[in-house]
Amino acid sequence: MAATEKQAAKQKFIDFLGQRNLRLTSQRQAIIDSVFSTDEHFTAEQLLEWSRRRDKSVSRATVYRTLPLLTESGLVREMDFGKDYKFYDPNYAEHPNHSHIICQDCERIVEFESDKIERLENEISHRLGFEVKSQRLQITGRCEELKKLGACRKKAC
Ligand SMILES: [Zn+2]
Ligand SMILES: [Zn+2]
Repeated sequence: MAATEKQAAKQKFIDFLGQRNLRLTSQRQAIIDSVFSTDEHFTAEQLLEWSRRRDKSVSRATVYRTLPLLTESGLVREMDFGKDYKFYDPNYAEHPNHSHIICQDCERIVEFESDKIERLENEISHRLGFEVKSQRLQITGRCEELKKLGACRKKAC
């Protein structure tokens, strides 16, 4: 996502906090700055680490309290890959229809978009008498490295 779009998304979230009378504390600012300066999909613990690089005082509790606000605002999407923890995706504001493939070992997440998938979803929905409201396609697989070496060198978290 381009920097200006990230900036706009960040401002939207700050407005969202304002509408709920939530203060923009320095901790929260560090969290928001981290979220809206990455294209990467992250976990709560990753966000905590990034935020602490900006402001050492950021607490785990504040990160866990801020994440539901981010998802509620619609600017960040929560993703469940069947792990003990969720992933968060900051790219939905710009690409609302993208899908994901994740490596079962290193948890590398790759985004993709395809007109064919959209057409197929529309076709199936139409046939079953539905209209598509939202879609979510997640594929779990083995990345190149896992296929080749039997294990990935870089593990997430
Ligand atoms: Zn994504
Ligand atoms: Zn892998």
